[in-house]
Amino acid sequence: MKEKVFKQKIDYKHLFGTNSSEHYRENIEKGIQSIKHFLNRDDFYSGITVFELEEKMKKYSVETSKELDINTALKAIDDLYISHAISFHSPNYIAHLNCPVLIPALVGDLIASAINTAVETWDQSTSATLIEKDLIKWIYSRLGLPNSSDGLFTSGGTQSNLMGILMARDSYAEKYLNLDIKKNGGSNHLSKFRIFCSEKSHFSIQKSAAILGMGYNAVIPIETDSNFKMSPEKLILAIENEKKLGNIPIAIVATAGTTDFGSIDPIKTLRRIANKHSLWLHTDAAYGGSFIVSKKQSHLLEGIESSDSVTIDFHKSFFQPVCSSVFLTRDKINFKYVSHYANYLNPKNKKESEFINLVDKSIQTTRRFDALKMWFTLKITTEKTVGLYLEKICELTQNAYNLLNEYGCFEIANKPQLTTVVFRFILKDFNENKTHDLINLHIKQTLFKSGEAGIASTKINGNLYLKFTILNPQLKIEDIKNIIEMIIYKGKNYGKKN
Ligand SMILES: *Cc1c(COP(=O)(O)O)cnc(C)c1O
Repeated sequence: MKEKVFKQKIDYKHLFGTNSSEHYRENIEKGIQSIKHFLNRDDFYSGITVFELEEKMKKYSVETSKELDINTALKAIDDLYISHAISFHSPNYIAHLNCPVLIPALVGDLIASAINTAVETWDQSTSATLIEKDLIKWIYSRLGLPNSSDGLFTSGGTQSNLMGILMARDSYAEKYLNLDIKKNGGSNHLSKFRIFCSEKSHFSIQKSAAILGMGYNAVIPIETDSNFKMSPEKLILAIENEKKLGNIPIAIVATAGTTDFGSIDPIKTLRRIANKHSLWLHTDAAYGGSFIVSKKQSHLLEGIESSDSVTIDFHKSFFQPVCSSVFLTRDKINFKYVSHYANYLNPKNKKESEFINLVDKSIQTTRRFDALKMWFTLKITTEKTVGLYLEKICELTQNAYNLLNEYGCFEIANKPQLTTVVFRFILKDFNENKTHDLINLHIKQTLFKSGEAGIASTKINGNLYLKFTILNPQLKIEDIKNIIEMIIYKGKNYGKKN
């Protein structure tokens, strides 16, 4: 019996290797055909219901599947996924911070996936280490950070922000309280640590504070001005107030491009306040950081070069596929707060490790070679062209704002600073906020469910607003006009039915 099992023929053709290059090519080409179906779709979403998708999921569940050939499997994935995936390049999609992606980046990603380098130690990644380092240097130099800086690619802005808050926490504890948190864990002090950020900052700041043992309450939201930028006066008052309460301010987080309004906090002023109170300054430029390559917008990031640490997501606004995010710090010594030396991987003894091990800087161990797609982008598309794309989407957003104004039936919350505009449809017959919340929710939901248009929503003072996030430089103002007219149509229809 045992022998019979042993003799069973095992098929190795699916393993990527020297003998499978033809099989690899055929399969990839078939995969590309399926992607073509995606590109040929003209809706941003098919409009299929959740129930219908759940039924399809049952049909194609891995639990029930037999061995399929590539053609049948691709048909399944087309029916279940590709036909209903949200398309970020569609002229009717202007909802979230999802950009259309660049082809050179896709080529870089394909190569990185196939070769499958893990950029953790030199003996696994050789020149990939150098490519990532080269790119990191390019990024911090562009931002104007000093030569003592360093950084690495992470899984996203959430992880980059976590690293910034971690360094702020541990460096404060070491410098001012003589505590080694990495070694000894938290102390009673931790729940008194305070981090100040704009009330419009990203929720990952709160999450980081919780994960790092300081708790949500450690994050003090600071009121913003009429342009949704953090108010320095309110910040100073809050810092003084926390000190009076016996709490310990450790960091300010500046947001360079809030998720909803694209507003950029006054980084230079925040730096001065941070200096006065010996605080870390982390700049969350997840959304806005890419604009450093845009001649017309880079001045908006003034002061970013004075940050102790910075987050940038190139998957938000540099036309990169997910994931493409970096974390940077102005003094590479700060990476000691995340480093760990393991005998099997990156022994501390310099003689044993031949060269740089990027794992020394990362909270991940095995890590994708995400730098390659960005490196390819800069080589082929160039920063100049990306800069022009960014200028184009800013201009388009400005035009969308003007257009919304002209219609006269919208209340507009922000004058665009980057590429978002927040507004709500107003029906003159109604003057209750609650009714307008319902109308605007109806607009967003019916546009999504019908597959007509993807727009986002957010809340201001508890009321629901709609949001455009414009990241596709090939959109035309007519496309936006078309969406605005659909919004008006849905909004007026709601009024009639009720
Ligand atoms: C999107 C975003 C994040 C989180 O980044 P992920 O890549 O989604 O983890 C953080 N901060 C801001 C301002 C963002 O817009």
